[in-house]
Amino acid sequence: MINAELTKFNAKDTIVLANNRQVLAFKKTFSIQHSNIQLPKALSWEQYLRHIWYQISPNSNLRFIDQIESRHLIKQSMQKLRQSTDQRLLDEVVKNNDYCANHLIDLNELTCSKIRSSELFSTWINAYKNTKSTLGLIDLHDLPSLIIKANISITKPHIYGFKTLTPQQQLLFDTIGYQQINANNTHHISALTFDTATSEILKAAQWAKAHFDNNPDKSVVIVSPQLNDIQHQLSSIFDQVFDDLLTEIGQKSYNISLGLRLNQYPLIQDLLSILTLSTQLQRNKIQSALFNQIATCVYVSGYQQERSARSLLMNRVLFLSVDEFSLDKIDKALSKCPILEAIINNIKREKPTNNTLESHLLNFNSTLETWGFATDRNLSSTEYQLFKKYLQTSLGLNRLSLYFDKVSTQSAIKQLNSLTTQVIFQAQASKTNIQILGALEAQGLYFNEAWVLGMTNQFLPARLNSTRFIAHDISITHQIPRTDYELIATDAKNTLESLSSLADKVVFSYALTHLESEQLPSPLVEFDPAINTSHIQKISPIALESIVDTHTTHLEKPQIKSGVRILKDQMACAFKGFAHRLNTPSFDVPHIGINRLEQGSIIHNALQYIYQEITSKEQLLALNTKELDGLILNKINAALKRYPNSGFKKIEKLRLSRLIHAFIEADKQREDFCILATEQNITANIANLEFKTRLDRLDQMSNGDKIIFDYKTGTTSITSWCGSTISEPQLPIYALTNNVQGAAFIELASNKINFKGLSKDPDSLPKQSKYKGKYQDWDEQLKIWQHTLNTASLDFQNGIAAVLPNKNACDYCEFDLICRVEK
Ligand code: SF4
Repeated sequence: MINAELTKFNAKDTIVLANNRQVLAFKKTFSIQHSNIQLPKALSWEQYLRHIWYQISPNSNLRFIDQIESRHLIKQSMQKLRQSTDQRLLDEVVKNNDYCANHLIDLNELTCSKIRSSELFSTWINAYKNTKSTLGLIDLHDLPSLIIKANISITKPHIYGFKTLTPQQQLLFDTIGYQQINANNTHHISALTFDTATSEILKAAQWAKAHFDNNPDKSVVIVSPQLNDIQHQLSSIFDQVFDDLLTEIGQKSYNISLGLRLNQYPLIQDLLSILTLSTQLQRNKIQSALFNQIATCVYVSGYQQERSARSLLMNRVLFLSVDEFSLDKIDKALSKCPILEAIINNIKREKPTNNTLESHLLNFNSTLETWGFATDRNLSSTEYQLFKKYLQTSLGLNRLSLYFDKVSTQSAIKQLNSLTTQVIFQAQASKTNIQILGALEAQGLYFNEAWVLGMTNQFLPARLNSTRFIAHDISITHQIPRTDYELIATDAKNTLESLSSLADKVVFSYALTHLESEQLPSPLVEFDPAINTSHIQKISPIALESIVDTHTTHLEKPQIKSGVRILKDQMACAFKGFAHRLNTPSFDVPHIGINRLEQGSIIHNALQYIYQEITSKEQLLALNTKELDGLILNKINAALKRYPNSGFKKIEKLRLSRLIHAFIEADKQREDFCILATEQNITANIANLEFKTRLDRLDQMSNGDKIIFDYKTGTTSITSWCGSTISEPQLPIYALTNNVQGAAFIELASNKINFKGLSKDPDSLPKQSKYKGKYQDWDEQLKIWQHTLNTASLDFQNGIAAVLPNKNACDYCEFDLICRVEK
């Protein structure tokens, strides 16, 4: 939104705004203020110049060139004058050329400055201008003077959102005439201090989340002047607060305005590497690191099918221990990856030739096609947008083709790479009202709530701007921003004014430290010196109690909670069993997404819902594929219902679907069964120790045998309950408490479903897992269990608490701090 009264405008008016973001905000605000009136023409400064130029010179012979062509011609002009160029130098020259145009600096002034760098710069830019004039080209900077020279009456525009007009803008608007749209300014500022930048961002994220939860229609902005530097920290904290981890950019609850150069994205890096590797394959001189990057690249055809073989191929290349190799050195390992081998053979058939950039572009596209680039894999929305942006950007080679004769494939790849460095890509924003913006992008916008982070003295006032090729006195005379202290003060005042106008109520904040460096507040804002700690959760300390830990008092109340766990721990280590009596609270280890415990409970619930509806093998077999798929999907959705939507949830859904399908297929292979109970609560009594527990599943077989099952998501072993010690007592406890003739774990592993158990009749369970110890029949085994569990129960009740762990008892034990064992 923008904060201005727009009711007086109509379709005949032209509004010029400082940037595209403001154009969108203007259109949105106008539509809200006048829902039924046609929009005025709202244009950014650049759009306005081009619009007027085409209006007044529709048949001009001059061809307009964009920034890519303009940059290339500047580079070519410098090279013709024997100046070598790199990206940094070129960036600097383009920036200084922009200053000269925007601040009406005549190149003669620089030539006469007697400063070598200024003189050189003016020679380069003069050469560029000559080239343009010879070829009949114009760029954006030529348009204001051409419009003024045309001396044609133009409708006066209204302008909005310019922090200050550059002299070039001022001159054009003064010549045409204009009216300023003023922002409404009623703002209240609060200024907070935090101890660290992390606390500051966390509080801002919690503040935004609270607004979002109260009213998702409210527009909220978080402005960060260091957005590029702290982007990862910002998105990581916001993802955690908004539960948006692994969520596609376009579906997040907040939108962060972060553009990276196109070639900074892995998909584009892989794409460019594929083109380079193709030329190396054709010359049979292959860089090891590059080959390994592409051999294991997920975007290359056949990656899924040949993943393991390609990893072995990579090992083979590493084993060569050379920077470059020829294909015959890896032919055996390559033959194990037939899809990759076929691609490489096809690529080898082409020979690198000198060609026009236009033809190279066609070849690049067919090379990518040969590699099956991004065809096997379902691209995420961001990847899809990236690839589309690359295709658009690569067309720049066609335009540059005008300025080159035939060039080698390597030079063409270099040009393509250079194009991808000039394009900033940002994935499509989500439709959310929470925006994280840089200070410049936020300028001129208006929100319901605003928070500006990082208000340090490094940001306001800004540092001195030293113009590389424009003499200092000329920069000051022409009012180039921040080139002297007076201009810095003016700029700081304007910036503060602009940030204060972001909302009626604006929070400014800064942190005393960032990455262990101390920071000072901006002297332009008065901060509350007290450190804000409202984001920190208070923890109440718990009093410690000293005890003798080998033997304690007899347990008075034999009714307990978590009985299975207690007996298990008592048998593993008496102190570990006893420690349950202390009732020490345990804290969940922080985790991202859905943890193992939650995953276990979700799959239990999904299977419970399925087997409450399908109660026999016969019913299971009667379902056709579509019905079974629908049933599984429904029950997984029900089991995941309480989890907020996130990328984790999507992945978990997919994982569960595969696992449950595999399990049901295994269940169909069993002897006939009907299900008597799922997730049933039972009361167990082991030597007078009474507790409640839950049975995962109880089946009855056609021979009348009842079998109990326990679902396990990790690997298990029958020895854990049939050996000399019982490390997993739940099945023995269920078997002793119910009249059953068999017990088994159902191991739900991603690669295989296993039934591991014992039964009176061997046919009651699928292919019995062989217990390698002494064979016990079912009734004999029940007696052994009863004895072992009774002993553990009596030890627990009698307060036996010696620190005597068995082999694996200390692994993952949470009582190590109180037993003081050294693990
Ligand atoms: S850490 Fe080992 S010795 Fe200590 S209570 Fe746990 S199991 Fe027993």
